[in-house]
Amino acid sequence: MKIKFIGVGSAFTTAEYYQSNMLITARNGKELLVDCGSDIRFSLNEGSHSGEAELEIDAIYISHLHSDHIGGMEWMAFRTYFSPNQQKPKLFMEENTMHVMWNCSLKGGLGRIEGKHMHLTDYFDCRPASDSGAFQWENIRFTLIKMPHILTGYKNFYSYGLLIKEVGDKGPTVFITTDTQFRRDLIGKIAKKASVIFHDCETSPFKSVVHAHYDDLCTLPAALRQKIWLYHYQPHPDRIPKADGFSGFVKKGQEFDFS
Ligand SMILES: [Zn+2]
Repeated sequence: MKIKFIGVGSAFTTAEYYQSNMLITARNGKELLVDCGSDIRFSLNEGSHSGEAELEIDAIYISHLHSDHIGGMEWMAFRTYFSPNQQKPKLFMEENTMHVMWNCSLKGGLGRIEGKHMHLTDYFDCRPASDSGAFQWENIRFTLIKMPHILTGYKNFYSYGLLIKEVGDKGPTVFITTDTQFRRDLIGKIAKKASVIFHDCETSPFKSVVHAHYDDLCTLPAALRQKIWLYHYQPHPDRIPKADGFSGFVKKGQEFDFS
């Protein structure tokens, strides 16, 4: 299994970084896209080895509904639907989030084509997972971990991080937080299961609270910081993660081989 960061920036990032979406390649070469933001038309083609990367995507996982994670879904849906002989990409995500994505984000543009009313299942092979569930794709097991992202006090908005492990005890257990607030206890618990953690990290001068800030991540125990790669940061961060005990900032286009 390989994980490639086709983007490492925040929602407001530049083409130098692109939004934080990833490409997971299974041992048989099949590809799963983790999040499909509004940069995806460019980041995917830049980050892949072929010219029409979107047509080679076997599956998509969506963590939550901000546009740096779903803003490319209309393009992806139409692009694959109207391509001859194209199989529907599998779509894995938490079931309620999938429902809300269609009804509140995508239906306006994707709900009709000439002569036909459409549903999400017309574009994707939908594979909803439960709130604390898991799914398997190409011999890789993905467990959803509910991460606090935007808290309102009522109907909070979560992002579903992924604990990733190849079936049959091959390779390490990897955790991608997706967008998350800083939660010392939660990440401490997850770190007991994961040997590599890709953590949401903002490097802005002011804390947004809805993303884990670099300064807060610095307060984690040294053994935990060692496991952490930082992504979803602002352009030109002025920090030196290695000096602070982290593994580093993930660079755009960086690929991790966990085979
Ligand atoms: Zn978000």
